[in-house]
Amino acid sequence: MSADCLFCKIVAGDIPSTEVFRDGRVMAFEDIHPAAPQHILVVPLEHVGMLASATERHEALIGHMVIVADGIAAERGVQNSGYRLTVNQGTDSGQEVEHLHLHITGGRKLGPIA
Ligand code: AMP
Ligand code: ZN
Repeated sequence: MSADCLFCKIVAGDIPSTEVFRDGRVMAFEDIHPAAPQHILVVPLEHVGMLASATERHEALIGHMVIVADGIAAERGVQNSGYRLTVNQGTDSGQEVEHLHLHITGGRKLGPIA
């Protein structure tokens, strides 16, 4: 846990969220400002900062995040229609929260990747 981290506080339940999944390694919750009909964030329970701070030690965890995300997409009915997984890394991406997270967006036709 990182004391000043918003997503660590959500993981700990200190800040409320609409949780959609949790296991021993990751949790997922609804994005508070959805950019698509389905917009869910998948985060590791442990604090990992930016993708740039991940190491080989995190390979299995990041793989698990992707598999969990696909399962959530299936549950939400967008696995077949299509969805996108996004990781923002750094200033040019618009990254706001420095706790690694996957955005799942879907439920509408998504525009080209900028
Ligand atoms: P990023 O720009 O990749 O760092 O994405 C951060 C995301 O977190 C944004 O899409 C925000 O809408 C979302 N967000 C910020 N605060 C909250 C919150 N309290 N609960 C859920 N999502 C949040
Ligand atoms: Zn954190």
